[in-house]
Amino acid sequence: MKDNREIAVPSKTKEILARHGFTLKKSLGQNFLTEPNILHKIVQTANITKETNVIEVGPGIGALTEHLAQNAAQVLAFEIDQRLLLVLEDTLQDFDNVTIVNQDVLQTDLVEVTNEVFSKKLPLKVVANLPYYITTPIMMHFLVSSLAVDEMIVMIQKEVAERINAEPGTKAYGSLTIAVQYYMETEISFIVPKTVFVPQPNVDSAILKLKRREQPQVQLLNEKAFFKLTKAAFALRRKTLWNNLQHTYGKAPETKAWLQECLEKAAIEPSRRGETLSLEEFARLSNTMEENKEKHELS
Ligand code: SAM
Repeated sequence: MKDNREIAVPSKTKEILARHGFTLKKSLGQNFLTEPNILHKIVQTANITKETNVIEVGPGIGALTEHLAQNAAQVLAFEIDQRLLLVLEDTLQDFDNVTIVNQDVLQTDLVEVTNEVFSKKLPLKVVANLPYYITTPIMMHFLVSSLAVDEMIVMIQKEVAERINAEPGTKAYGSLTIAVQYYMETEISFIVPKTVFVPQPNVDSAILKLKRREQPQVQLLNEKAFFKLTKAAFALRRKTLWNNLQHTYGKAPETKAWLQECLEKAAIEPSRRGETLSLEEFARLSNTMEENKEKHELS
């Protein structure tokens, strides 16, 4: 008789793992979801239709993948753990719209693989329960890539989701907030308790929804210089902007004069702390530094 239970039903997950003699690897962030209702909510939040292509990172035994496959046009899933290929072949055998690529997603040329796999150009979404140990690198890999991802709906640690979604002036606000919000509008859709995973992690998770801005939130003369500045501003957390800038750019008298001039021109008090600056203020300061950089380089 056909087994119609969803993969995420705890008894079925257990049976799949036992049938394949699969042991979970903590080092790969293998915390599998075993609550079908959460999966339904993720797919609903992501608003996936047969006119959507989806990229998943880390399908595991396919708990989320089967829901994506049921709702999307095509699903491309990157799984680093070779042992899972045979498991996925078994659990996803009913679907002909899923392609599993056995690769570390961070080492992948996303544009190339995507062009190869998707047969039709459709709105593209990333939907994933990300491995905790590399959530930020994976998200940034997608954001900086020239791949046109319209939305990302990712399950990540609650605390990291709060940092990404933070407002200026709060403790959670930092260079990660800025790096993501520069590209995307952010929203925390809902919280997922740690009890719905096998094995249970130490912290709760959140579903973070990111939507690509039509234009980056601010106009920059040099993106690389902007990200260097925002990292610098938060390098030493309780220090002022002035201290932090000198820490990164140096304390030579000419450098200090340059920094002082730029802060003045951008109308930003050196005694402020990085976490009080809005994205617009960081952009203004970065652009001013860029416009005056000859003075710095000549010095
Ligand atoms: N999607 C499944 C679920 O929701 O139950 C599993 C999610 S589990 C949190 C993360 C998955 O990512 C694991 O299957 C793990 O092997 C995979 N993974 C870890 N690092 C990876 C990487 N660098 N590239 C691709 N997959 C990775």
